[in-house]
Amino acid sequence: MKRVIVSGARPTGLQHLGNYHGALKHWLRLQETERCFFFVADWHALTTDYATPGAIVDNTIEMVLDWLAVGLDPARCTIFQQSAVKEHAELYLLFGMFTPVPWLERNPTYKEQREQLQDRDLSTYGFLGYPVLQAADILMYRAGGVPVGVDQAPHVELTREIARRFNATYRELFPEPATLLSEIPKILGTDGRKMSKSYNNAVYLTEPREDVERKLSKMVTDPRRARRTDPGDPDDCPAYQSFHRNYCTPEELAYQADGCRRATIGCLECKQIMIKHVQAELEPIRARRATLTPADASHALEAGNASARVVAADTMAEVRAAMGVG
Ligand code: SF4
Repeated sequence: MKRVIVSGARPTGLQHLGNYHGALKHWLRLQETERCFFFVADWHALTTDYATPGAIVDNTIEMVLDWLAVGLDPARCTIFQQSAVKEHAELYLLFGMFTPVPWLERNPTYKEQREQLQDRDLSTYGFLGYPVLQAADILMYRAGGVPVGVDQAPHVELTREIARRFNATYRELFPEPATLLSEIPKILGTDGRKMSKSYNNAVYLTEPREDVERKLSKMVTDPRRARRTDPGDPDDCPAYQSFHRNYCTPEELAYQADGCRRATIGCLECKQIMIKHVQAELEPIRARRATLTPADASHALEAGNASARVVAADTMAEVRAAMGVG
């Protein structure tokens, strides 16, 4: 029996290298050996962007096209849209009946995001309850593992607590899913902050070669290297720590680090070595993406929605029986 894996992403449109290293590469490995469900979390997008939902449909298609371009294969994994499987809403509602509010209030991202997203009112029921929706998303497929970044790990813990409470109150139905942390560290944006569309510092998987070259050439480095003759330290260079370390060979890294410390290479020359590897990784993704049309994303989602619904219907029949509702 293959282990069931569930993971989702909000429909953010074009995917960048942060998405690729943080999630998609992990998903690609998992689809080879496990029974995977990967979904577009469009209801989750509404928990913070409820007032501006205009881009969700287009972003869903663009994101799924990028998923297909990197190699997610609908023949080997189920790609579906959360809002197309209404059972998620029902399970969310039923879990809400026994999930204590303090469990949600202690969620570290709840306070953090409310403070960060000051431009909107997040004192909503939907935003407080989104980890319960996540638990429904995961437990619907009785997942054994959930690939997530470190910041999402507390949500998987909450999912386990909800599963435990359900099993203890009604009957043993849900496994407690393991947190599968992504092995690759965060890829930083070109300004040295976390790579994010909203920071305008992202390098996208399908953007033209010239744009990738231009963005990475300008990426921030150790500020001590103002002139080519100024020595620097790779430990203080966001480009080195994030990109070079992930892309360059050990020999190249040694050459770059030594050249940086002794000021025998310039930052541009140093980055060119890394950029060559990034371009080589992106080339086949760009090529595949160029052959795909929105119809390919729609077909993948239709097939995935249908198979997700079959599993969801089965789970909900058992949940309803256990909770004594029709
Ligand atoms: S030489 Fe390389 S490692 Fe050193 S600061 Fe420049 S880009 Fe970074």
